[in-house]
Amino acid sequence: MTQHFDYDLLVIGAGSGGVRAARKSAEFGAKVAVVEKAALGGTCVNVGCIPKKLYVYASEYAAAWRESAGFGWRAEDVSFDWNTLRDNKTNEIARLNAIYARLLEAPGVDIIEGHGALAGPQEVVVGESRYRAEKILLATGTWPAMPDIPGIELALTSNEIFDLERFPERLLIVGGGYIATEFASIFSGLGANVVQSYRGELFLRGFDHDIRQFLAEEMRKAGVDLRFNHHVTALESQSGGVLAHLSDGNEPFDAVLYATGRRPNIAQLGLEHAAVTLTEAGYIEVDDAFQTAEPSIYALGDMTGGWELTPVAIGEAMAFAQTQFGGQALTMDYHAIPTAVFSQPPIGTVGLTEEEAIAAGHEVTIFESTFRPLKHTVSGSEERTMMKLVVDAESDRVLGAHMVGADAGEICQGLGIALKMGATKADFDRTVGIHPTAAEEFVTMRTPRD
Ligand code: FAD
Ligand code: NDP
Repeated sequence: MTQHFDYDLLVIGAGSGGVRAARKSAEFGAKVAVVEKAALGGTCVNVGCIPKKLYVYASEYAAAWRESAGFGWRAEDVSFDWNTLRDNKTNEIARLNAIYARLLEAPGVDIIEGHGALAGPQEVVVGESRYRAEKILLATGTWPAMPDIPGIELALTSNEIFDLERFPERLLIVGGGYIATEFASIFSGLGANVVQSYRGELFLRGFDHDIRQFLAEEMRKAGVDLRFNHHVTALESQSGGVLAHLSDGNEPFDAVLYATGRRPNIAQLGLEHAAVTLTEAGYIEVDDAFQTAEPSIYALGDMTGGWELTPVAIGEAMAFAQTQFGGQALTMDYHAIPTAVFSQPPIGTVGLTEEEAIAAGHEVTIFESTFRPLKHTVSGSEERTMMKLVVDAESDRVLGAHMVGADAGEICQGLGIALKMGATKADFDRTVGIHPTAAEEFVTMRTPRD
């Protein structure tokens, strides 16, 4: 480092990507600082994956209580207390924030609190302070985006939904992506009457069509009022809640959650002080090494678009640190990234959907199974499970594995390894199942769909 730089690396944003890049770079010997304007850990830790999954666990107890009766349990007088869940979640997040601080401090990363903005290609300003760094990494993530309809200021986003003062008995959720679908299941499970409004034919665009259809049926059975080809035209304040103007009439709700996508956090980031460029969709444009059009400035994680997932931001950060300070050029491998939607039942998926495989020119053989899981033969629940394999007819390679059902995320993590290694359907077939599990169905499907 030449003397006039304060740092080898200055990271703006201490979320999934920024924390890992700062930590790893410091472990490689770089002098590093990270600027954070909110809480350490970013979206995932504070208002994303972690509190969301805690709420998923909370909501799953409702079905578990009901189902336990078939197994002989008597669970009378069961009730749910929102304040307990919310406050226990908040305590756990505070514990995680402290762990993140220690993770950064241990290898010597300076934590600078405040809003960071570029003042030039190698300069960042935070309040009254200016810092010069040889390299700057932007990792500021994304922020919820909402359409501009009358009364939109009455809507909540996922940032606020975790900390509501009062539990919403009637909740309207707008959107058909990960967040809308997960929160529809969470609040329905916790006992709210949930309407999920999606503007298109079928929610979860981009997932396998059969899987989307199957999940829609299961969520409806579980009590979520899913409305497709459905629109919200305005929101109006009314005593104790919100009157929503919907394409099928006006309805009162206690709260309205908009989960209509997210946009990169680039407001007041000082991009005009550098040559950083944006993609057509408005994300920060980077090359394989996460370098922007300004050679000293890099960017990774959600703000660069693509897979907006924590493990992807972390993987990019590892590649960045290794390349810049670890003496070994690494790129991020985006092939066969597994992902889950924590709906109830959840989706787990890895690789190509049937539609993607066909569009990519593959001739596909499809193996599909739907069944009632063993547990529900006694629990009384009507929930069913679906599994699907998309296989390349010519090479026998498994191109995609998809599932709706309990533990789908846990199961598809393992399948991700198989797909990464290039497993064929014959490899699946010669794998011995674990009995009795649902997962064994993935290695026992023998008859292709017509
Ligand atoms: P973030 O984690 O968003 O971090 C960016 C940080 O930058 C923030 O702390 C922000 O305060 C800070 N910042 C922004 N601007 C500035 C500035 N100018 N100065 C200083 N600091 C700044 N992913 C999964 O893999 N699994 C899940 O189950 C999952 N669930 C999710 C649920 C919800 C409700 C949401 C919203 C997201 C979820 N995600 C999930 C996505 C995941 O949270 C993101 O992919 C991940 O957090 C991206 O990391 P990042 O480092 O790019 O950005
Ligand atoms: P998504 O991009 O997944 O979904 C946005 C949804 O909003 C789509 O259904 C979209 O419809 C709809 N929409 C967009 N604009 C409008 C509009 N103007 N009016 C009505 N509907 C609209 O975004 P999310 O906000 O759900 O999540 C952001 C990202 O966070 C996800 O893509 C995912 O990467 C990550 N995430 C991951 C999770 C996980 O791993 N389990 C959980 C939660 C989030 P259409 O399809 O028609 O465009």
